Amino acid sequence: MKEKLQLLKESLSGDLFYDEKMRLLYATDASAYREIPLAVAIPKNETDIELLISFARENNTSLIPRTAGTSLAGQVVGNGIVVDVSKHFTRILELNTDEQWVKVQPGVIRDELNMFLRPHGLYFGPETSTANRAMIGGMVGNNSCGSNSLIYKSTREHTLEVEGYLSDGSKVRFSELSLDDFEEKCTLPSLEGQVYRQIRTLLGDPHNQEEIRKQYPKRSIERRNTNLRTDSERYSFHLQRMLSGILL
Ligand SMILES: Cc1cc2nc3c(=O)[nH]c(=O)nc-3n(C[C@H](O)[C@H](O)[C@H](O)COP(=O)(O)OP(=O)(O)OC[C@H]3O[C@@H](n4cnc5c(N)ncnc54)[C@H](O)[C@@H]3O)c2cc1C
Repeated sequence: MKEKLQLLKESLSGDLFYDEKMRLLYATDASAYREIPLAVAIPKNETDIELLISFARENNTSLIPRTAGTSLAGQVVGNGIVVDVSKHFTRILELNTDEQWVKVQPGVIRDELNMFLRPHGLYFGPETSTANRAMIGGMVGNNSCGSNSLIYKSTREHTLEVEGYLSDGSKVRFSELSLDDFEEKCTLPSLEGQVYRQIRTLLGDPHNQEEIRKQYPKRSIERRNTNLRTDSERYSFHLQRMLSGILL
């Protein structure tokens, strides 16, 4: 495996570490869990991410995306390759003041985003106690929020689109879909199409529907992370919101 990791390291523009010291440093997050990863990658660009995905697929290992690593339940701990995007994926890409949205890379720190938004009279509400270091990628991953969540809601309510990669290396963008658009996505022959078809099968099954309704937590409790957000809107579909808060 060391030879393969060395070849991977040489093919990346960013860094890859598989020495004991770095693996120990990345064996924990803010939780009580600890597991030594196979390696630690600091990708520099999207090509590096694509190379890491194909390496993981070919070598039957996993990737563990990581931003600030402040998770409390071992979300960024594992025996695969930790992919730390906090160093090079830190750009605010686009701001639309009319429509009040901003497009960012995952390594943008929540408080720094708000410093950038302030002169435009805008504010990204969800506030974790760790907001001076927590990054947007991790906030989406955890569906983070804070003490004002009854007013500001949590990250998923503010997530308009998510761009990312599936396990076969294909690039995807998840955003609001009308039911017709959703059905069209289901016809795609790709892994993306398979994802939508599987969701349709799961959620279309009357037995599952009944079970979800029966087991659904109290609706008056706003903060629910342990279930999929299946109740977002009746006439449109929001996979980007369903993804937020799933432990990856
Ligand atoms: C003292 C303390 C107080 C806290 N208070 C709060 C609080 O008030 N509210 C709250 O919600 N949380 C809180 N947390 C938990 C944590 O700080 C937040 O959830 C924070 O937003 C996580 O951000 P992060 O950048 O550290 O993410 P990480 O821990 O690095 O990652 C979080 C998740 O996102 C995934 N992820 C990160 N980047 C990507 C990417 N590019 N692509 C795909 N997946 C990705 C990771 O794999 C992981 O599953 C607290 C933690 C501590 C230690």
